[in-house]
Amino acid sequence: ATAITLASRPSGKPTPDNFKQEELELGDPGTGELLVRVIWLSLDPYMRGRMDDAKSYADPVAIGDVMEGGAVAEVLVSNHDGYAAGDIVTGQIGWTSHAVVSGDELRKLDPAIAPISTALGVLGMPGMTAWAGLNEILKAKEGETILVSAATGAVGGVVGQLAKAKGMRFLGVAGGAEKCAYATETLGYDACFDHYAPDARELRRQIAGAAPDGVDCYFENVGGKTLEAVTPVLNTYGRIALCGMIAWYSGAGVAEAMPLPKMWRTILTQRLRVQGFIVTDHFDRFGDFLREVAPMVGDGRVAVKEDVTEGLENAPAAFIEMLGGGNFGKTLVRVGPY
Ligand code: NDP
Repeated sequence: ATAITLASRPSGKPTPDNFKQEELELGDPGTGELLVRVIWLSLDPYMRGRMDDAKSYADPVAIGDVMEGGAVAEVLVSNHDGYAAGDIVTGQIGWTSHAVVSGDELRKLDPAIAPISTALGVLGMPGMTAWAGLNEILKAKEGETILVSAATGAVGGVVGQLAKAKGMRFLGVAGGAEKCAYATETLGYDACFDHYAPDARELRRQIAGAAPDGVDCYFENVGGKTLEAVTPVLNTYGRIALCGMIAWYSGAGVAEAMPLPKMWRTILTQRLRVQGFIVTDHFDRFGDFLREVAPMVGDGRVAVKEDVTEGLENAPAAFIEMLGGGNFGKTLVRVGPY
């Protein structure tokens, strides 16, 4: 197998030197195991956290190990009763062309339901994150106003679409005019604001201007200037689903961030409810999520936008780009043909 391993831990933003492409010998699959060929690799912001040797909700990738990642693959050899050669599966297979994996850790896909790549995006972990954040964390309701950051991304794009289906007013914050135009014209956001153009104060003024009844829910993906702009605009008893804080993942901007006492005071005086969540805690609802959202992908109520990079060797560069906002839609690498 050709694989991308973690060569060194980044300090700040990851660089290409942090990754190494290697040829690995795979053993034969044992009982209950499968040999799979990867078709699609998912690149996700959480992988930045796995590159650090820091305590988190999941263990870091060890130096020299294959980078962790969700993938869609074809079964070449199966020693598991639940799978046969030719099946299409998804699971945490890693940044690799081939792998030997336990069948119990995979899920079989039905390619007739939707394009198989959607199992890594709208019908996979990011879509589930959007669904869980909206329904289980925010308990968002018809008629409320929600603001979504990274509004056109893998998670944010689905949050917007699901908010629309609920009959909410939904506002977005995204990086750049092109993403904002896509948010309003294609995803149906009532308004979208560019976090690059203004400072936090100007961003706040723009959001407040588009939300005459205030903002009830904030789906927080980024932290940074956007968080600083949004919190004062939240209504009394507003809710924040704290999903991610990508603006700070590489340490940039942390020193200039809004001081904690100021944020704490805002939470107190506006009686905000802030809840962090990790999608894996909600996987018991995956079936409910798929039953609701798969038909919405089928009939176009949930748009699919993918940002595809060709070739596993280009995964590190695509990952670094994505962390800086260079992706437009769900970030995927085409590792092999389908
Ligand atoms: P996206 O497809 O949204 O890609 C990341 C986006 O983050 C970029 O496109 C960019 O969008 C935005 N971004 C990057 N840097 C900044 C910055 N400095 N300021 C503002 N925005 C920035 O990724 P995902 O949808 O996969 O993930 C979105 C968030 O959700 C991440 O924080 C991720 O860690 C989190 N997440 C959390 C999960 C959980 O279980 N809690 C599960 C899955 C994801 P733009 O150009 O619009 O700024």
